[in-house]
Amino acid sequence: METTRCLIIGSGPAGFTAGIYTGRADIHPVLYEGEQPGGQLTITTEIENFPGYPEGVSGTAMMDDLRRQAQRFGCDVRSGYIKQIDLSKRPFRAVDDHGNELLAETVIIATGASAKWIGLESERRFYGEGVSACATCDGYFYRNQQVAVVGGGDTACEEANYLSTLCSKVYLVHRRDELRASKAMQHRVLTNPKIEMCWNSRIAEILGSDLDGVTGIELEDTKTGAHSQREVTGVFVAIGHKPNTDFLAGQVELDEQGYIRVQNPSAATNIPGVFAAGDVCDPNYRQAIVAAGKGCVAAMDVERFLQEN
Ligand code: FAD
Ligand code: NAP
Repeated sequence: METTRCLIIGSGPAGFTAGIYTGRADIHPVLYEGEQPGGQLTITTEIENFPGYPEGVSGTAMMDDLRRQAQRFGCDVRSGYIKQIDLSKRPFRAVDDHGNELLAETVIIATGASAKWIGLESERRFYGEGVSACATCDGYFYRNQQVAVVGGGDTACEEANYLSTLCSKVYLVHRRDELRASKAMQHRVLTNPKIEMCWNSRIAEILGSDLDGVTGIELEDTKTGAHSQREVTGVFVAIGHKPNTDFLAGQVELDEQGYIRVQNPSAATNIPGVFAAGDVCDPNYRQAIVAAGKGCVAAMDVERFLQEN
């Protein structure tokens, strides 16, 4: 059966950075790209906050650069995804979506996390053109404009507060009459003059056109069913994220929110020889530069582990 010293699962900034570092360390890693080659950044337009690109860069261009950089150092980048993995003994046995089996001395899990969506057709239609799941990433494009944030947890409140520093007005749309967020976060939102609460509300439709992008939202009162509209150019969905860990089938220790638990500052999981990096183990930052940095950490941990074991 085919063997590798390091299997990297995922092709976002964490996976490819791990590929660059393990490649340069002569580990000859195998990297599976998964169903979203290049990761989350390939579904956005412009990245303005990744260091090294003073004029900004498109998400796909940046991820193509990272892929080529990893390949340059011998990272074997493969299409397809890891369907199943047995982490009960080393070497670890992985099976891809074509049924190919691979034995890996070490594994880096860099499978990211996916934003949860409301599920409207109009949400899909305006995705990246007025609909976003990341205020830190896209808020800057809505300076001095009116926007809406959906959700009632800490993320939604944090995004609303952040956006209030850039935008002229923020509607915080929540389906109940009470926020789920911590008291401190609630206080910040409820005393912020730029944030207007839309209690007991759900977005029934995101309004707009191909020409103008998003122009507003249609709200439905969850108690009375009454409809009303707000003028906004951006809608930020902040109803939670789901780390991509289903294929691990419960073998790696997760935290209460379902993220892989790593032994910070290292990338070690509870299983010796298995490391994790990027959004799959990061409920807090979820930024490309952080994921790339953690990919480097995981690769250096792998190098050390292989020397010692
Ligand atoms: P991801 O980029 O999520 O990549 C995960 C990878 O794992 C994918 O390639 C997927 O195919 C693969 N995968 C999953 N399961 C499997 C499997 N079973 N087998 C094999 N592969 C698998 N951050 C910024 O810093 N700046 C921005 O401007 C910015 N804009 C964003 C815009 C949008 C629309 C979104 C959604 C996010 C944005 N982010 C931005 C956040 C950034 O994209 C993430 O923090 C970053 O991509 C996380 O990198 P990652 O490597 O951990 O995982
Ligand atoms: P969360 O706590 O699960 O909150 C999700 C919110 O979205 C809830 O208010 C929920 O409404 C709403 N929601 C869920 N599905 C929805 C749908 N389909 N339509 C409309 N609304 C929907 O998620 P989170 O805010 O991302 O936070 C995740 C974890 O990270 C939490 O433990 C949080 O404390 C933590 N976090 C902490 C900080 C911080 O401390 N600075 C910042 C961010 C996140 P209901 O309330 O009605 O269920």
